[in-house]
Amino acid sequence: MENLTALSLKLGSLQRQERPYLQGLDSLLPKRPTFNHTNIPGTMVGFYSPDFIGDINVAGFHLHFLSDDKKVGGHVMEFTGKNFKVDMDKLTSYRFVLPETKDYDTVNLDKKYQYGKK
Ligand SMILES: [Zn+2]
Repeated sequence: MENLTALSLKLGSLQRQERPYLQGLDSLLPKRPTFNHTNIPGTMVGFYSPDFIGDINVAGFHLHFLSDDKKVGGHVMEFTGKNFKVDMDKLTSYRFVLPETKDYDTVNLDKKYQYGKK
């Protein structure tokens, strides 16, 4: 959504993590910092993933926001707005690129460390 004015906007973020990355999303997301803004122009970009995407991505809508002055941005948790211009595209493929690093090769991706996946 380009050229929108977010009348109210709640954004979420995560604190920068340091090695050895012992915390999973299960513990990071519930205590993540959130930021509330009002009357802020910017662009929202996102996608919709069906439920069958499973653990690869978030099912449903996933939106991020960046203000026109590029000083405010983050994961959209709630918003109201006006003057929306919505562009949509339908994708029929999903390319998934995995890192080729030792960190990735040894990371624990157990579901117990993923938010909402006990
Ligand atoms: Zn996000």
